[in-house]
Amino acid sequence: MDQTQIDTLRGKPVAAFHHLIDGKAVPASDGDTMNVVSPIDGQVLTTVAAGTAEDMNAAIASARAAFEDRRWAGQAPAARKKVLLKWADLIEANALELTVLGVRDNGTEIGMALKAEPGSAAATIRYYAEALDKIYGEIAPTPGDILGMIHKEPVGVVGAIIPWNFPLMIGAWKLGPALAMGNSVVLKPSETASLSLLRMAELALEAGLPPGVLNVVTGEGRVVGETLGLSMDVDVLVFTGSGATGRRLMEYAARSNMKRVYLELGGKSPNIVFADAPNLDEAAKVTAAGIFRNSGQVCVAGSRLLVEAPIHDEFVAAVTKAADAMRVGDPLKVETQIGAVNSETQLQANLGFVETAVSEGGQIVTGGARILQDTGGYYMAPTIVTGVTQKATLAQKEVFGPVLGVTPFATEKEAVALANSTVYGLAGAAWTANLGRAHRMVKSVRTGVMHINTYGGADGTVPLGGVGQSGNGSDKSLHAIDKYVNLKTAWIKL
Ligand code: NAD
Repeated sequence: MDQTQIDTLRGKPVAAFHHLIDGKAVPASDGDTMNVVSPIDGQVLTTVAAGTAEDMNAAIASARAAFEDRRWAGQAPAARKKVLLKWADLIEANALELTVLGVRDNGTEIGMALKAEPGSAAATIRYYAEALDKIYGEIAPTPGDILGMIHKEPVGVVGAIIPWNFPLMIGAWKLGPALAMGNSVVLKPSETASLSLLRMAELALEAGLPPGVLNVVTGEGRVVGETLGLSMDVDVLVFTGSGATGRRLMEYAARSNMKRVYLELGGKSPNIVFADAPNLDEAAKVTAAGIFRNSGQVCVAGSRLLVEAPIHDEFVAAVTKAADAMRVGDPLKVETQIGAVNSETQLQANLGFVETAVSEGGQIVTGGARILQDTGGYYMAPTIVTGVTQKATLAQKEVFGPVLGVTPFATEKEAVALANSTVYGLAGAAWTANLGRAHRMVKSVRTGVMHINTYGGADGTVPLGGVGQSGNGSDKSLHAIDKYVNLKTAWIKL
């Protein structure tokens, strides 16, 4: 990463963004816009269209028309592959521009953003592009003179709603398999992270994606998101975000056309450290990175540290040292390890969680406060709270901020019970040199993703999904494709 190039890009004014509907940049039907406030300094960066229900319905109609006339689904698989591969190349060619635009919008530190955003989006789109002509139907072993065939068909119009934390990466997790399978998509990005996603969608048109196949509508969730969720013309809804919104989407589906709904939601992921962990120093550093990178705004963040009692004090001291050494600040500086919190609202919510933790008996070991206020931006010190009981709010509710709660345990059985004591089940980790225990933890901790002696793993070949109230279905890997196809049985009399 070259700081001079980054500084040049950050100095550029950002023109107002419109929706992308039917291959064109379109303002809101009533001309309304929303300010985009940069979390780096609290200043207005530009505006996006404040979408109306009418805008969303126009985008859905465009996607429906594109699907019905088969301008995309009807193309040969090799032709669709070529377009998607070109799109991935364009994303890579414009990676720094996309990253800086995204960081100015959402505040993620640039080192992480460059890899996790365009880097991962391009890899995801390429992965599904390469897969698309290797996926086809089956001939069933049906008896006698009748042949049973199973076709795999695109579902139709996919509605995708995504959060602020990694718009390109999470957007690509939905767009890659949906478009590869021949669907049309209407995507609604977060109010506080739309810009780089809109730019990435423009690149899809440049790569040759026909107009109407991918539409992006910005605006309030309660307006355009709700219209998408309630539409009778959307066949599948795919979502990443909070449980509260996920629950609404299920209601929308029930109240409209019973569209399929796939949810990737929050977590309260346990990071369990046993006294026999192979390298406690390494475990401490990875633990700190596993909760504090991107200011804790990572769905799989290891936000609950469960430590075996005999090493509790020593390990907390090591994690505190690692946390205090992390550089918090301007996310567009290459040396920054923790950027800005996405919004003032989120920062205040984070501070509220810390206050509640203390009122419930927790002790702040480090952090606990807003910092760098003179920048005008939204920054919070990495925060560690010990003495968090199983029933405490900090042990039960997702903060989605840089706050780590610590709870000691005495036995493996207790560690598992604590790990499984929330409504969530997204990710988790266990640190141990005992092979049998490692396998037992993979089996007994109720999550979609489990790490042993590490935290994090970004490869697109494995699924990411949760159990319990962390969601259903999963993104990434070939398994994600199932969400975007219908199985159709054909009986042929021979
Ligand atoms: P959010 O639920 O507030 O918003 C997500 C999206 O839903 C936004 O685009 C928003 O505009 C839209 N929305 C809001 N209200 C809506 C409504 N009534 N109808 C339709 N759409 C509506 O979530 P967020 O705060 O943007 O994101 C943070 C959450 O996302 C955290 O809970 C985090 O854990 C979760 N997340 C999960 C994963 C995963 O893979 N499981 C990944 C990243 C983030």
